[in-house]
Amino acid sequence: SKQTLVILYGGRSAEREVSVLSAESVISAVNYDKFTVKTFFISKNGDFIKTQEFTATPSADERLMTNETLTTAQIVSPASIYEKNAVVFPVLHGPMGEDGSIQGFLEILKMPYIGPNITHASVTMDKIMTKHVFTSVNIPQVPYVALTDLAKIDEKMAEVTENLTYPVFVKPANMGSSVGISKVETASELRAAIDEAIKFDSRILIEQGVNAREIEVAVLGNNDVQTTMSGEVVKDVAFYDYKSKYIDNQITMAIPAEIPENVAEKMRKFAETAYRAVAGTGLSRCDFFMTADEQIYLNEINAIPGFTQFSMYPLLWENMGLAYSDLIEKLVELAFETFKARE
Ligand code: ATP
Ligand code: MG
Ligand code: MG
Ligand code: MG
Repeated sequence: SKQTLVILYGGRSAEREVSVLSAESVISAVNYDKFTVKTFFISKNGDFIKTQEFTATPSADERLMTNETLTTAQIVSPASIYEKNAVVFPVLHGPMGEDGSIQGFLEILKMPYIGPNITHASVTMDKIMTKHVFTSVNIPQVPYVALTDLAKIDEKMAEVTENLTYPVFVKPANMGSSVGISKVETASELRAAIDEAIKFDSRILIEQGVNAREIEVAVLGNNDVQTTMSGEVVKDVAFYDYKSKYIDNQITMAIPAEIPENVAEKMRKFAETAYRAVAGTGLSRCDFFMTADEQIYLNEINAIPGFTQFSMYPLLWENMGLAYSDLIEKLVELAFETFKARE
């Protein structure tokens, strides 16, 4: 009999629109000889809403229901996603999706789920915590100042002046898709950038800006960790912000990235080391910076990376010979592997 794949999409974070696009790619690529798909939309305020079910490949123009097409009458209890032997794919990005909260809920429900476990998700969602873990395993990173006590803003701004050089990047610790991030060119703009980031999180990271190419490596696996050849995000913008990522399509991807073999190999090793250090399960996209003199820095790990058919993560695997729908099946296998290990 067919297996039920429960897809959670939307979500409470500022990245909900990206999530919907990723989920639509998944429902159109799943092998319906093996799976039946049930979808649940999580609204901005956190309500679970039962949406479509699919037993065959939907037509190309089929959209998943979102705020625009739903009424509150369809709200269900979050626990009603439970179904014996079903596997869950939380196709959610950002806080309350990629940060361990949904993963903890799925553990309590005793359902197998795709992607990061609680530790992997929560550590990588917090950019400051991530820095500490990377430091502990000697992964190169750009210099930074962490602001975790908002009573100390002035002190920390002085530390920025002393230890970093402009431009710097100001980021909310818990977010993604460049939401809340500013590139700051001069000291006079720093305070405004901090105030912007505070709208999203009370933990703020201020990073040394580097003039670098952005190279990404995909990681897949639990104990048996596999990495891909790298891909480059080729931008004609200085800062890969939300608008350039999802609205202007100002990016192209070069897969494999045209970088020296030894640098590529080093990145794959760092990606695997970092993934193991954050207790990686399922998948991750490791994002690096590479400067003109071939210095590399690990910027971050995305535990639930963009997952449309045109996203870097699936394309990196396609380049390794693993097609999008086979990647989904591999992720399901990995979900059951961790589930069984926990029992
Ligand atoms: P994602 O969508 O990958 O989860 P994010 O919101 O977690 O993104 P970052 O990847 O940390 O944010 O930063 C977003 C973008 O800002 C980077 O892809 C890069 O273009 C630019 N950027 C961030 N930090 C730096 C830095 N220290 N130096 C230079 N550019 C940076
Ligand atoms: Mg990120
Ligand atoms: Mg992200
Ligand atoms: Mg990033």
